[in-house]
Amino acid sequence: MSERVIPLVDQRIASLAPPPAAFSAGTRIAATGLLTDRLGRPLRDLRISVTDRCNFRCNYCMPKEVFDKNYNYLPHASLLSFEEITRLARVFVAHGVKKIRLTGGEPLLRKNIEVLIEQLSALRTLEGEPLDLTLTTNGSLLARKARALKAAGLQRVTVSLDGLDDAVFRTMNDVDFPVADVLAGIDAAQEAGLGPIKINMVVKRGTNEHEILPMARRFMGTGMVLRFIEYMDVGATNGWRMNEVLPSADVVKLIHSELPLVQLDPSSPGETAERWGFTDAAGQYDPRLGEIGVISSVTHAFCQDCNRARLSTEGQLYLCLFASKGYDLRSLLRGEASDADLASALGHIWQGRSDRYSELRAAMPPDASDGSPRRVEMSYIGG
Ligand code: SAM
Ligand code: SF4
Ligand code: SF4
Repeated sequence: MSERVIPLVDQRIASLAPPPAAFSAGTRIAATGLLTDRLGRPLRDLRISVTDRCNFRCNYCMPKEVFDKNYNYLPHASLLSFEEITRLARVFVAHGVKKIRLTGGEPLLRKNIEVLIEQLSALRTLEGEPLDLTLTTNGSLLARKARALKAAGLQRVTVSLDGLDDAVFRTMNDVDFPVADVLAGIDAAQEAGLGPIKINMVVKRGTNEHEILPMARRFMGTGMVLRFIEYMDVGATNGWRMNEVLPSADVVKLIHSELPLVQLDPSSPGETAERWGFTDAAGQYDPRLGEIGVISSVTHAFCQDCNRARLSTEGQLYLCLFASKGYDLRSLLRGEASDADLASALGHIWQGRSDRYSELRAAMPPDASDGSPRRVEMSYIGG
């Protein structure tokens, strides 16, 4: 059993204020779509956490011992309202964001999430195109909600699924939730037209690695893209250990030994997944069989193209999944700030960004502490 650190201080309280220069005449930044950070990375992708609650207790994310009945979730008044989220999203889009992903916690637990989706789907990119609007879910409520989500304007979903074996799945979600219900949710999403659907499987060595091949076989040729995610050292509560990480290279090798693969080109800049296509008898990529993806957050850092910002449930802007503090945008929203003030604040914050945690972690010895303050939980800022 690994030792688990129980947090004593609530990191959510710690936040940063946007730089004062954002609000001074002469140093204001207007939204042009040309914003880049200190490493030359643009801002293209916004992940919005709409709730810090979840009906699962995946051990790698919200371990039961910490997220128990005494855990203090955010009170409703702390959450950004749909109007506040949409107002901020408009400012992000003016700075060049093209893709918005709703996440959490479990985003489908947020009441009337369809209303937010309707508001966000009305936004247009600087080129006048609809946003790439998507949502990551554990799938437990998808069978019930897929049609309404589609009707509200959601384009696609990503469903997290860590195995097909019911016993393994129940162990991983740690609330005894049956895998059949998530599979029914995936079917409902496909029927509703929420595709192409991505399936995310977090691989933990010693827990679900024997599910890799059954999962690859199950989703090959379905039009869905299965992505294997290396178990990450996010947050401070999951008792992460390097020896529980199964490197993506091993996942590819294992699948390739049974179902031959060829590497495919990245689909877009900033894409987190490396793509591998299933092949036909002649060894050529066969689009009918489709592809898998591997996300090597631990063994192969991809910070140099990271164009993602994360907005927490209570309106803090995080510049990296592994950050320990966010910038308080809610105070601006609930104060006197105009949209131009918000745009300038975001411009200054992004221009000052130099985060590249995974690259730095890769340079450290295995299991070393990075010495940084305690990181924020993934359930709070979303994946
Ligand atoms: N509840 C939703 C779900 O599970 O899809 C959305 C939020 S969840 C935090 C987003 C994604 O993060 C999920 O695909 C989940 O598997 C992944 N995730 C959570 N903790 C992780 C960890 N320690 N390492 C790798 N992926 C993780
Ligand atoms: Fe909930 Fe998603 Fe975290 Fe699992 S990964 S505990 S489903 S938020
Ligand atoms: Fe982006 Fe931070 Fe992940 Fe690097 S570690 S890819 S900067 S979120």
